[in-house]
Amino acid sequence: MMSTNLRAWRTRACAVLVVLFTLAQTHPAFAYLKFGFEVNGQQYTLKWSGPVRYYVSDVSVPGVTQSQFQAAADNAFKTWTSVKTATLSSQFMGFTRSLPGEDDGRTTLGFLNEPTLDRVLASTSYLVDGSTGELIEADIFFNSAFPWSVAAAGEQGRFDVETIALHEIGHLFGLGHSAIGETEMGSGGRRVLSTGAVMFPIALGPGDVSMRRLRPDDIAGISDLYPAAGFNRETGSVSGRITKSGAGVFGAHIVAFDIRSGEMVGNFTLGTDGQFSIAGLQPGPHLLRVEPLDDADTTSFFDAADPVDVNFTTTYFERLVIVPRGGDSGAAEIGVVSK
Ligand SMILES: [Zn+2]
Repeated sequence: MMSTNLRAWRTRACAVLVVLFTLAQTHPAFAYLKFGFEVNGQQYTLKWSGPVRYYVSDVSVPGVTQSQFQAAADNAFKTWTSVKTATLSSQFMGFTRSLPGEDDGRTTLGFLNEPTLDRVLASTSYLVDGSTGELIEADIFFNSAFPWSVAAAGEQGRFDVETIALHEIGHLFGLGHSAIGETEMGSGGRRVLSTGAVMFPIALGPGDVSMRRLRPDDIAGISDLYPAAGFNRETGSVSGRITKSGAGVFGAHIVAFDIRSGEMVGNFTLGTDGQFSIAGLQPGPHLLRVEPLDDADTTSFFDAADPVDVNFTTTYFERLVIVPRGGDSGAAEIGVVSK
């Protein structure tokens, strides 16, 4: 149901601004997919250098006033900014007559009626200075073609503003999608069985408010992008390579399962060499699972042109890896076989 169509949404032509968003593949260690873009041949990671100062459109919809919307968005911002292992902040600047999507230098959240986007609940876009790579603004639109609610316990048949805002604000801060979740295909499309991360690309159904709080994978991702002092010293990483018949596998999903806490943090192989790295892990023993990226469309994670391989069976690494404090576990080479 929820799709963040970065490329599709903000594609208006503008002479000095870059509107090209691809997932960064040049950084060796993420806990998570980050958004990257290229300006004048240089690769940038999409992130804010100071507080996110945001405005809310002066628009209400049936069931949600501007003020209620702002309060729900504020809760969602605070959920991210209160992560202890990350340093990020936000500030509500006021209501505005601007709408999300306007290139006005203001980060704006609000409703737009987009009935033709019948699978898009909300979407985040970014505006980047084409000469410096600086992030100028990011906007989030909520599609008022859907029914919305801010009820504390959720409301049947209506999507929860805070839940969807939490996911979109994760994008606004620079996070991509997580693949920690399970779906099954049914007659009406993909049905979510479980979600292990706020940044999973498919929303739970209307009325559900269980994803108003962050999961370990979300926390690892935001902390990796905006590390608080000591984060990199206190946590560790695991890295290695996924191969099939000796060749690297692109787009494999690797999950590190902390056998003591039960926490799961995932990442992907980001190149055809099959290399991966998962950072921001608690020190200690972890179980590694490799699985194909088949619980959501691969285009929710990678470019359509990328050679994502989903033809292999779920595989566990043969031994536990010990994540050291402030270091890397060393290379885990995991071979997978075709289905
Ligand atoms: Zn999304």
